[in-house]
Amino acid sequence: MVLTPPASGASSEGPARTYHGRFAPSPSGPLHFGSLVAAVASWLDARAVGGRWSVRIEDVDAPRTVPGAADAILRVLEACALEWDGPVLRQSERGAIYDQALATLRAAGEIYRCRCTRREIADSALRGIEGVVYPGTCRDLGLASEVPGALRLRVPPGIVAFEDRLQGCIEQDVAREVGDFVLERRDGLHAYQLAVVVDDAEQGITDVVRGADLLASTPRQILLQRALGHATPRYLHFPIAVDARGEKLSKQSLAPALDLQSAAAALPAALAFLGQEVPAATNARELLAEAARRWDPARIERVAARPFALFG
Ligand SMILES: [Zn+2]
Repeated sequence: MVLTPPASGASSEGPARTYHGRFAPSPSGPLHFGSLVAAVASWLDARAVGGRWSVRIEDVDAPRTVPGAADAILRVLEACALEWDGPVLRQSERGAIYDQALATLRAAGEIYRCRCTRREIADSALRGIEGVVYPGTCRDLGLASEVPGALRLRVPPGIVAFEDRLQGCIEQDVAREVGDFVLERRDGLHAYQLAVVVDDAEQGITDVVRGADLLASTPRQILLQRALGHATPRYLHFPIAVDARGEKLSKQSLAPALDLQSAAAALPAALAFLGQEVPAATNARELLAEAARRWDPARIERVAARPFALFG
């Protein structure tokens, strides 16, 4: 990936569309500081322009879903006065919609069945940004849909570029750095990339504000948007919170879980992490309303990761 600074004065804004943002946590555990930052940043960016803000539970990866985690996340958002518009979308209920998208791609000849095992792909000598690059073994085999395996997108050659509102121009040669990627896994589960693109399009999301750990996924999602005939939203990838060792604050790294009290108490820290002023306020609602008035995304540090320690 190549990062170049945004051209001064350049604007990637197209014709005015009503702003619609979203927060899309995966319920693989309780909310932690990194996901609170994501909720706050996307909420402020939407509310600052009077836009809509939706919540989507990204539980497409059923085996990683922790029972009760989604509802716990929603209760924390409520405790923080991070109110959302419309119903909460749950990916686990949307399999039929993802299948429709796969049918569209199949009819257009954009996907194919791959019978390679994980081991066979791992034996490939090609290394990319996320491990092994799929070498295209099954691309021209025309395997029937009854053959057990995964479904992959035919990635066209060439650079995919987009202008990130914070990180500048991002370029990635998806064919070389990732290869034809999976849309339906061998175990029949829909892949994250497919679900995100279908949901963003169907919800009419105009602006995606999320952590820079997803920066490398964006070119794949743009390719998929193009293959499905969907518009590409604007993107802002803010730095992710990492611990002193440089590891992402996540459920896996045992970052402290935020409960109803500690999450609201962590809101000023989330604002500070995003480079924003922390207004004086007596409660979360007041704090966020004032923070939305003062929201200035240009003050976010333009890096991919920032160290952060919430408790000592
Ligand atoms: Zn294959």
